[in-house]
Amino acid sequence: MKNIALIAHDNMKDELVKFVSRNLDFFKKREIYATGTTAKKLSLIDGLNLNAVASGPKGGDLQIGSLIVEDKINFLIFLWDPMSPHPHDVDVKALLRIAVLKNIYMACNINTAKAIIEDFYDL
Ligand code: PGA
Repeated sequence: MKNIALIAHDNMKDELVKFVSRNLDFFKKREIYATGTTAKKLSLIDGLNLNAVASGPKGGDLQIGSLIVEDKINFLIFLWDPMSPHPHDVDVKALLRIAVLKNIYMACNINTAKAIIEDFYDL
């Protein structure tokens, strides 16, 4: 059982919801952790095992990072917005750092997420 973290900045949320909906068979089988507003959007999709943490700008990214430290998440999909500045940039950086340090699967765009999912299916 692989736990997955899903995070998307505001301009990227629709893309994430679409991706999860299209790959529902994959996501339904996993425990999902998501930051507040992302989780709210994902809750419109039936059948997900969804756990919400705080909103990203209010510490949610750090909570996801902490779950990664505890080995509770081994796949992070984080659609961060390359075109907008964010007040919690340092939290984003901390999350990306810990994901790299812990060598978990990480996708910051849909094509990579797709490739990882295809890989997971075979495991
Ligand atoms: P959100 O947080 O899901 O609460 O919008 C995402 C983020 O900004 O990191």
